[in-house]
Amino acid sequence: MGITLSAKKGLIKQSEIRNMTRECLKAEGINLAQGICDLEIPASVMQAAKDAIDSGYNIYTASEGLSRLRRAIAEKHKRFYGQEFDHKSEIMVSMGATGAFYTTALSTLNPGDEVIVFEPYYSYHAATLESIGCVPRFVRLKEPEWTFDKRDLESVLTKNTRGIIINTPANPCGKVFSQTELELIGDFAQSNGLLVFSDEIYEHFVYDGLTHIPPATIPTLKDRTITISGFSKIFSITGWRLGYAIAPAHVIETATHFNDLIYVCPPTPLQFGAAKGLIELPDSYYENVASEHQAKRDRFCAELAKAGLTPHIPHGAYYVLADVSMTEGNTVKEKVMALLHETGIASVPGNAFYHEESDTFLARFCFAKKEEILEKVYQRLVSKHS
Ligand code: PLP
Repeated sequence: MGITLSAKKGLIKQSEIRNMTRECLKAEGINLAQGICDLEIPASVMQAAKDAIDSGYNIYTASEGLSRLRRAIAEKHKRFYGQEFDHKSEIMVSMGATGAFYTTALSTLNPGDEVIVFEPYYSYHAATLESIGCVPRFVRLKEPEWTFDKRDLESVLTKNTRGIIINTPANPCGKVFSQTELELIGDFAQSNGLLVFSDEIYEHFVYDGLTHIPPATIPTLKDRTITISGFSKIFSITGWRLGYAIAPAHVIETATHFNDLIYVCPPTPLQFGAAKGLIELPDSYYENVASEHQAKRDRFCAELAKAGLTPHIPHGAYYVLADVSMTEGNTVKEKVMALLHETGIASVPGNAFYHEESDTFLARFCFAKKEEILEKVYQRLVSKHS
């Protein structure tokens, strides 16, 4: 009967983000479903990658990544957050933040281990855990400010709980975790011997005068946090697949073995490009990225509100969750599909970010798009709802 599939097949399915991208292509719409950022790639990053190819840097690097890139990552964390890391033993470059999370999760978690995940969540976090036999335990953040308290964490704690995932700034809700919240998580993690995965891929996309606080800067979290970040968003190179993990040396050593097994190494010439960007781009580059996206957020949210799609204003990252209940359809998926067919604007149904069939009528829109695309979106929104 041909090829049968493994038992693991039941653990994996196509993400709703990719589904909506396919629907968007079919409808020839504007894709605000996928988190692709339309920033220009910094010229120095692109040039350094091309130079590396021309100079013959086309063979494997060490499986933990290029030394100069790891050094640049360590320097970045000192420059922005005052953190001290040893680039030789505590940093690993992987295939995106996705690869960094997968390999560190494989290194630290066993099947049956439970990990606390705040929801609405980034679907890859829950799916990655499930794919390795772990069990996500969900804590639902409370609208409108996406808050939680100690009792929420305690209510999902069991004898199998091993960790917590923090995503700050968060996809999809844009929450920027405060010092007080991180200290609360730190106390909870310390009392219960938990490790923390901290996905900080949107660390430079923070608005409203807030600052990004890396969880590993909280004393109780310092030795129990695996920090994950990358270059996809900040250098607009999602297809280069470059990200990294920072963790205590024994974790990085094992994760590097998995990195080697699964990917061998991240793409060599592209690592040269990212290193150049980290070393050369001035603070103003990062400040401009934040202020440009804050301006886009403001206009985008105002236009959604005018069209009757009430937005939750995000303080970070580059997505807006907006209420699509006014649109035709019974379920949020039907409403999102109706919006796509009427306006050509693709978004992601909010239930993709919750574990249960939820009552949400929120949809996620990515606003990190070029002005001319956003203008088209605004025209389409106005013509539909006015
Ligand atoms: N983490 C979060 C929270 C994301 O939203 C995304 C992409 O949308 C990623 C990780 C993926 O990062 P990378 O391209 O570095 O794998």
